[in-house]
Amino acid sequence: MTAINPVTDLSQDGEIAVVTLNSPPVNALSAQVREGLFEAFSQANASDAKAIVLICEGRTFIAGADISEFGGAMTGPSLQDVQGQIESSPKPVVAAIHGTALGGGLEVALCAHYRVAVPSARLGLPEVALGLLPGAGGTQRLPRIVGVEKALEMVTSGQHVPAKAALAISLVDELVEEGKLREGALAFARKAVAEGKPLVKVRDNNAKLEAARGHPEIFANFRKANARKFRGFLAPENNIKAVEAAVNAASFEAGLNDERRLFMELMSGTQARAQQYFFFSERKAAKIDDIPDDTRPRDVRKVGMIGAGTMGGGIAMCFANAGIPVVLVDSAQEALDRGVQRIKGNYAATVAKGRLAQSDMDKRMGLIHPSVNLGSAADADIVVEAVFERMDVKEDMFRKLDAIVQQGAILATNTSTLDVDRIAAATTRPQEVIGTHFFSPANVMRLLEVVRGSKTAPDVLATTMKLGKTLKKVPVVSGVCDGFIGNRMLEKYGQQSLFLIEEGATPAQVDAALERWGMAMGPFTMYDMAGNDIGWEIRKRRAKERPDMVYSKFADRICEKGWFGQKTGRGWYRYEKGSRKPIRDPEVEEMLAQYRRDLNIPQRSVSDDEIVERCIFALVNEGARILEEGIALRASDIDMVYLTGYGFPPYRGGPMFYADSVGLGKVLTSIQSFQKGYQGSQWQPAPLLVKLAKEGKRFNS
Ligand code: NAD
Repeated sequence: MTAINPVTDLSQDGEIAVVTLNSPPVNALSAQVREGLFEAFSQANASDAKAIVLICEGRTFIAGADISEFGGAMTGPSLQDVQGQIESSPKPVVAAIHGTALGGGLEVALCAHYRVAVPSARLGLPEVALGLLPGAGGTQRLPRIVGVEKALEMVTSGQHVPAKAALAISLVDELVEEGKLREGALAFARKAVAEGKPLVKVRDNNAKLEAARGHPEIFANFRKANARKFRGFLAPENNIKAVEAAVNAASFEAGLNDERRLFMELMSGTQARAQQYFFFSERKAAKIDDIPDDTRPRDVRKVGMIGAGTMGGGIAMCFANAGIPVVLVDSAQEALDRGVQRIKGNYAATVAKGRLAQSDMDKRMGLIHPSVNLGSAADADIVVEAVFERMDVKEDMFRKLDAIVQQGAILATNTSTLDVDRIAAATTRPQEVIGTHFFSPANVMRLLEVVRGSKTAPDVLATTMKLGKTLKKVPVVSGVCDGFIGNRMLEKYGQQSLFLIEEGATPAQVDAALERWGMAMGPFTMYDMAGNDIGWEIRKRRAKERPDMVYSKFADRICEKGWFGQKTGRGWYRYEKGSRKPIRDPEVEEMLAQYRRDLNIPQRSVSDDEIVERCIFALVNEGARILEEGIALRASDIDMVYLTGYGFPPYRGGPMFYADSVGLGKVLTSIQSFQKGYQGSQWQPAPLLVKLAKEGKRFNS
């Protein structure tokens, strides 16, 4: 065995040379890995070996590019140099794949003449998720093996294809027994030598491309079928164009040049930066500065879920999906039965769509134990409360939980707006109390705001953050304030959406402008979906708590009519029976005109640009306050909340990233101009925004 460098070895087993990479944790294509590969292959090529196996130590094959190199200067041989060295080897090269061969990893494997894999391996080109395309020949080689349609699907979805499926589309040539990758790959290489198998260069394999040549409808149809999914994103389109280039370019090299150009176009744009920031921000959100990494989380073996309503049912499903038993408690038998039926219905729908096996549904249902007796939750390790959103109800519940539930258990509340410290004060153990703010539908939405009370113990916080991950959520820490991070900002956004219609816009115009800009759903469609009565209740409470609060009273007129949204068939829009499609309602617009007359608000025409600026900068300004007050630990946490819980477009990176990319000076100037407009007193630029704008700095330093 020869050590080529600290991460690469070259050895020989009989007539087969073996290049072994060992660069933990994931054998990413760092400068050192590229250097090692280049040198190892040049030595193996010069040796008397008859074939070469490329294999990795550790938990995976090359899992991708070294993302920390993005944007910086590259040193050492380029990935293309390494690929050339492998592909032009005069001896058969066999890539031996376990774990994941993703992105640059698969692009390297595609330069080998053969690929073998263990059944648990997965292969894919996930660059699209980072706002990019596979820029090392992936879009040119992949369709040559799997065909154009499959390649389009893979590069635009970024999906990881399991080895068995990869075998079916010829992406791997043979599956070898789990745990015996080295032996299997060596045997394959020996056979290749013995049988004189040809040196298959994927780049020369044009049959599948020729089949697609002269059929532009393949691409047109694909674009059309995915138009909604790709809306606003640049990367899927450039991925499609690159595969199109593979089909139509005069040569493989010409296709590579097109791929390079399309890659650079993405790489130099804001979208790719935003999507990479999204990727890194998720990991960052797990870090809490004053909680040491080695804080021991508590074991969570049993959960008590209190309240079997909309949220309780969804949250119980999250636990059952993760294999954790839940007692689901509701005070009313009827509500409990309804809750269980709804859970069953949800699972059954997933089974019907073929996305869940009946046996898995049965297993999950078997983990949910309904009860009308709060005492059934006494031995739970964590109790999550999702009863009615009223302080007296919550305080009463926590007093009872304090008396019943075993010591050492975490007591969590799913409140969306109430003071977690006050709820904690109803118990004799406020250090065990925390907020777990799930989003609706709880079994689908990824965001989990973890609300740290002033007395919450460090290990309670650490346990809850870990539990969030176990539930496959994105846990983000928030301090205690009215609405926490997400809903507190949303209030300002909502306030502007209503002022805009008071001045002359319609709900449909506001929604359309924001959706065109990239929001998954406009605010009025969102209110109708969530139920207008929820906001109404909150407004009534706040009218008492904060009588000086300025807000549009027009929403109250809608609620007074009983138009609570989708559930009542009418809200800001009309809904046909059984449909969720909002239909513009002239009666609402007439009520709006009447409201303006009643309040003497002159009507003017409002531009789409103004709608977007006012709503989005309202988020940014409140975000700046949240950051300054320490409610959020960092700007990127605020962005994670909006990206994973509020349908903010990933390619804009979240409100704070977006503000940074627009320039904080520009944001401040706009806010100052809004101060002179309608309800201008509601616009007070956040001190942090003013400071950073003056210093020419950003929220994300
Ligand atoms: P819901 O009205 O659908 O469900 C509440 C359930 O609690 C009902 O089944 C009720 O019977 C039960 N309940 C009431 N008092 C009880 C008691 N003393 N003991 C046991 N069960 C009791 O409400 P929801 O929408 O599920 O909201 C629950 C909580 O989650 C609220 O705090 C709400 O603010 C919060 N939340 C709601 C949403 C949402 O979109 N609906 C989102 C995030 C957070």
